[in-house]
Amino acid sequence: MSGKVALVFSREFAAYSFGPFHPLRPERQILTYELIRELGLLDNQNVSVLMPRMATMDELKLFHTQEYIDRVKEKSELGYGYLDYGDTPATKGIFEASALRVGATITASKCVAERKFTHAFNFSGGLHHARSSAAAGFCVFNDIVIAVKYLKKNFNVKKIAIVDIDAHHADGTQEAFYDDPTVLTISFHEDGRYLYPGTGFIDEYGSGPGIGYSVNVPLPPKTFDDAYLYAFNAVVPPLIEFFEPDIIIQQFGVDTHYTDPLTHFALTTKTYEKIAEKMHELAHKYSDGRLIVVGGGGYNPEATARSWTIAFATFLGFKFPRETPEKWRKLCEKYGVEPSKYLHDEKMPEIVEVRKEIVFNRVEKVVEEIRRTIWPFLF
Ligand SMILES: [Zn+2]
Ligand SMILES: [Zn+2]
Repeated sequence: MSGKVALVFSREFAAYSFGPFHPLRPERQILTYELIRELGLLDNQNVSVLMPRMATMDELKLFHTQEYIDRVKEKSELGYGYLDYGDTPATKGIFEASALRVGATITASKCVAERKFTHAFNFSGGLHHARSSAAAGFCVFNDIVIAVKYLKKNFNVKKIAIVDIDAHHADGTQEAFYDDPTVLTISFHEDGRYLYPGTGFIDEYGSGPGIGYSVNVPLPPKTFDDAYLYAFNAVVPPLIEFFEPDIIIQQFGVDTHYTDPLTHFALTTKTYEKIAEKMHELAHKYSDGRLIVVGGGGYNPEATARSWTIAFATFLGFKFPRETPEKWRKLCEKYGVEPSKYLHDEKMPEIVEVRKEIVFNRVEKVVEEIRRTIWPFLF
């Protein structure tokens, strides 16, 4: 059940940097690639590594305004100030680095649309906060929105589902397709009352012809593996079965990991493996296998590299060794990152039973409310 798998990668991805003191650590891209390579996953005959190119001006304009693109370009040349109100600095070369990440998601989309590959990964993508005329939350250009528009324009793809599991609400992506019934957006995230950007409530379910096609799953802090998977399995499979997308794009942000310094989830790598398994199965069942996976958040670089590697490897039916390769651990140390000896988390987050019960109850209520509010529009 696999087919050919593409990994889009360039060492230039590390140029998407907001400076040494910013929580987004660009070396996580290199650490992911090297872990994948050290584990021998690139030796698999179904796997190819594709070099990305920068997105063209016309491609950026599929979503962003000319004025905003020019502003990013100008500030990128100057190399100081901010692209938004203080989260996303304007570093030198950020225009080119951002355009490369969009180009990488386009490369992944193109090879899947042309059926040269069944699944394609670009862990440098997933910049879901960017708006048509504004940067936001470390995101300069929204590669997901651009990819959807690119696929519709160049390959006449009719229906696309976006499943976003980043800890933060996919606000930029949601806004772009809010009234569009041909793009189903599903966002799992930490409840907006506790985390940036403060949106993504269940009653944001789309407008006009798009009513019901914007699905938000706001989860409480400390949502742990079983509670998360309960919500995921209750919401995603029925929606994908109903929608029958031609292509699925998954934003695989892993800032839901229990060690993530910016958020309050309690997930382990086991959940990422389960999600990858489920998405793989759904893609083969409903979208002829066609699935594009992009990255997203993840602010503990070593946990992010392990999580994305596990997601990638799951698509290949890979048998995981217990330990991480020594060479990779040395590379982590070189970057000043303390590596895990084990590929999967072996230490679990500590949550007392009473708290678990409270969290699970709240997650069940969220699922109930989604069924009550959104299902009637669709089923
Ligand atoms: Zn497959
Ligand atoms: Zn995030």
